[in-house]
Amino acid sequence: MTEQRALTPAKGCRDTPVLKERGQREVFCGLTGIIWLHRKMQDAFFLVVGSRTCAHLLQSAAGVMIFAEPRFGTAILEEKDLAGMADAHEELDREVARLLSRRPDIRQLFLVGSCPSEVIKLDLARAAERLTQIHAPHVRVLNYSGSGIETTFTEGEDACLAAMVPALPETEARELMLVGALPDVVEDQALSLLADLGIAPVTVLPARRADGAPGVGANIVYALTQPFLGETAAALDRRGARRIEAPFPFGEEGTTLWLRAVAQEFGVDAETFDRVTQAPRARARKAVAAATETLNGKSIFFFPDSQLEIPLARFLTRECGMEAIEVGSPFIHKHLTGPDLDLLPEGPVLSEGQDVDLQLDRARAARPDLIVCGLGLANPLEAEGLTTKWAIELVFTPVHFYEQAGDLAALFARPLRRKSALKLEAAE
Ligand code: SF4
Repeated sequence: MTEQRALTPAKGCRDTPVLKERGQREVFCGLTGIIWLHRKMQDAFFLVVGSRTCAHLLQSAAGVMIFAEPRFGTAILEEKDLAGMADAHEELDREVARLLSRRPDIRQLFLVGSCPSEVIKLDLARAAERLTQIHAPHVRVLNYSGSGIETTFTEGEDACLAAMVPALPETEARELMLVGALPDVVEDQALSLLADLGIAPVTVLPARRADGAPGVGANIVYALTQPFLGETAAALDRRGARRIEAPFPFGEEGTTLWLRAVAQEFGVDAETFDRVTQAPRARARKAVAAATETLNGKSIFFFPDSQLEIPLARFLTRECGMEAIEVGSPFIHKHLTGPDLDLLPEGPVLSEGQDVDLQLDRARAARPDLIVCGLGLANPLEAEGLTTKWAIELVFTPVHFYEQAGDLAALFARPLRRKSALKLEAAE
């Protein structure tokens, strides 16, 4: 198959020592994942068992509700629940019965744990089992935690998908499973590329509807589309499936290498691979080049947030000419991001976890051209004259595969362009 344009660097970052920090961290909680998961799973409902704070977070993160009927809600734990003066399980059963009788379209119900439900040790796994027995076979009830005590915002999706894996049907079939909740339009592009390569059958986790849930077994190979799905991968491995190792499909190079790894697994010949990928690769390169004019030679500093940081640093340094100063990630799972680390040229500090004051000091000392960070840090840093990009946009915007490569680069170019436009205005 065709060689890559840029070769693996003489020394990548797989063996770079990781700076591990365990201090104050500034990240959204795992409930945030409900915002993109409820759009993906069309007959699912996410019932957060939490406080008014959790309800407010969801409402403000979701913005305008786009569906006639909401697909998420919050069962509010009141003071008497928190003080142990009421039987929260009984109340939850009543709440769920009311919801399901009103909404026969719901086929999967997720009970989502929060900080308050964890603090009072409400056993949602037991509740999910009990409620499945009551409402099966029409509705399956599962549970996972989105609590901010334990999870960063992309871990919510990981916990949700991992909770689904034990309930997937067993299969002996040899199939490819795509794993990760991509926007439908992006998922369709990926499925179309795989179909053109002659790879079939292909299933997706999470499926858009409960009756499309993929089977799993020893003949299933799966490819992650997101680097934050470590628990899901472990759950699939426990069911006998095997993961295809590859860089993540961001940018032209990442997408080509991801597709190539899948193509090799399914014995696709080099000629077919080149024929199918040639045109979209050229389009992706052209689109990335347009943004690269702004990004080339600029430095970037990642605060730990989405867990997309390593593949994105690989994309921005290799395809857009940026220089990574620090690549911080909440967790560094080398078994998942190893292929990206191999391609990331040595140089940046790799940091895992956060001690926010120390990291802010490092960022201020380095004065990078662009900082990728959470919403809470962006405004103060902008006030200090630094340019920032909100990490959360990277999970709300379609950024995977060839047709989105230009948009991905443009997401990083935009704040830099805005900054130079403001400078020009100020100089006039
Ligand atoms: S789960 Fe915890 S961190 Fe998240 S909104 Fe609720 S209280 Fe806040």
